[in-house]
Amino acid sequence: MEIEKLLDNNASACYQCEQARGPGCNTFKGVCSKSPETTAIQDHITWLCMQLAAAAVQNRAKVTDEQLVLFNRAMFTTLTNVNFDDDALMRYAEDLTAELTTLGVSGVNKSAAEAVATLKDYGLAHRIHKFGETVAGLRETVVYGIRGAAAYADHAFVLEGLDPVRKETWMNVEAMAELNKDDLSVDALLGLTLKVGEANFGIMAALDKAHNAALGQPSFAPVNTRPVEGKCILITGHDMDDLHKLLEQCEARGVNVFTHGEMIPAHAYPVLRKYKCLVGNYGTSWRNQRKEFPLFPGPVLFTTNCIMPPREDYKHRVFTTGRVGFPGLTHVANGEFEPVIAAALEAPGYTKADVEAANAESPLLVGAMHAEVLSHAGKVLELIGAGKLRHIFFIGGCDGSTPGRNYFSDLAEAIPDDCLILTGACGRFRINRVKDYGDIEGIPRLLDVGQCNDVFSAIKIAVALSEATGLAVNDLPLSLCVSWFEQKAVAVLLTLLHLGIRNIRLGPSLPRFLTPDALAVLADKFALKPTNNKDAKGDLADMLAGEH
Ligand code: SF4
Ligand code: SF4
Repeated sequence: MEIEKLLDNNASACYQCEQARGPGCNTFKGVCSKSPETTAIQDHITWLCMQLAAAAVQNRAKVTDEQLVLFNRAMFTTLTNVNFDDDALMRYAEDLTAELTTLGVSGVNKSAAEAVATLKDYGLAHRIHKFGETVAGLRETVVYGIRGAAAYADHAFVLEGLDPVRKETWMNVEAMAELNKDDLSVDALLGLTLKVGEANFGIMAALDKAHNAALGQPSFAPVNTRPVEGKCILITGHDMDDLHKLLEQCEARGVNVFTHGEMIPAHAYPVLRKYKCLVGNYGTSWRNQRKEFPLFPGPVLFTTNCIMPPREDYKHRVFTTGRVGFPGLTHVANGEFEPVIAAALEAPGYTKADVEAANAESPLLVGAMHAEVLSHAGKVLELIGAGKLRHIFFIGGCDGSTPGRNYFSDLAEAIPDDCLILTGACGRFRINRVKDYGDIEGIPRLLDVGQCNDVFSAIKIAVALSEATGLAVNDLPLSLCVSWFEQKAVAVLLTLLHLGIRNIRLGPSLPRFLTPDALAVLADKFALKPTNNKDAKGDLADMLAGEH
């Protein structure tokens, strides 16, 4: 058995993302390029977070805000495609060890070499061996959900401090502490997954509120996708606060800023739009960065995932900040982006000739967050009542490189003209250039609700429709087709399950950490189904016929 072999070889294994191949994705090197050593250190960080959680639950009165913030940051840094820098990761392990000492827990200190040497005692292969595949997979689901939620909690913390996410951070700490128990049943673990989903709902709501407070209420905005003459920086990831600081620093320096990937919703926020240096969006989703970044004539700043190993030809002009790390890249901290601006001033930037040579492209529309869409609720209900709006689809989530993801573009392309499509997260790039979707009596047919955390907007829209029509959310003419890739998507999925939303189609493949037994439980309880990647039109017919 492969797990036994991994244990015998003291090998690391990882199956936390959709790219996982076999039980030991990175026995040698992960599909994402993560080394076994990095996985071992990330496993060690996760184990330390479990110990911190247990100590925190036992010493609630003694727990400091710094410890809760560290819990979120340490979990965030273990997400797929965030941090490949072992030295930076070890600093998180050291900080966790120090905080554990203040809570009276000792003997947890390990060097990177010791983390690798003791994999047999705590790595994934050990956990699968110890608990069996189903229970181990559900335990991992709880951890992955907490990782995703922790990333959102950290974004909210940066904007408004810990208070708006304190309760939810504690819920995640409590769930994590439970994982120290060896005898958790399948039912108990399902309860924990839903608790994490509930915590993540609160965190997404807090982040939505924090974004609106800091950046203004988002509204529809066309986004330029053509070059603009001048020196330029490309910013990617999800951190709007980093973007805001970068814009402040670039405005007076004559350096333009283009958004990339999950930063495109930035153009919907009035406070960010007012900066003249925010000139457009470049490229598509993270999976194309090694093709697209070499062609961008300026530096690239990564604020969060998803970073891929940079090619040699552009590596020198990639910068990281926040929780992101990659060996050999320059890390800038505390929102001080002068090194990035200096690199932009040295780089060629876009010339007049570049601008003249560029293809004409229609702007992309963003800004369909809940307040904007609900300001048109009367019209939407009128269209439904008049039979002019038949069905609403949500097609979005994380993008990725694995086969089968054409399903989402095929589906969007085939959706009839009397239907609306909500989209969000970097999966949007699978569908937003497929065709001109047009509108239904002035309501754009393709509505981009924002980043992955802005699924919160899609939920608010669905709840408002449910209240206005008197139909339960699960009875609305609404279908959800979610593409998943990494652990934020796991957190979002757990939130949807916590809210009792059924009939979600998930693809392009089901999570490898869920065994057939665990999936049978979810399918039974929530009617979670896989996307039929070879037959998007068949799925569409079923959804239009009311099978969601
Ligand atoms: S994060 Fe994904 S691709 Fe990377 S090692 Fe883990 S399962 Fe493999
Ligand atoms: S939406 Fe998911 S896959 Fe896309 S950049 Fe964000 S974390 Fe990565």
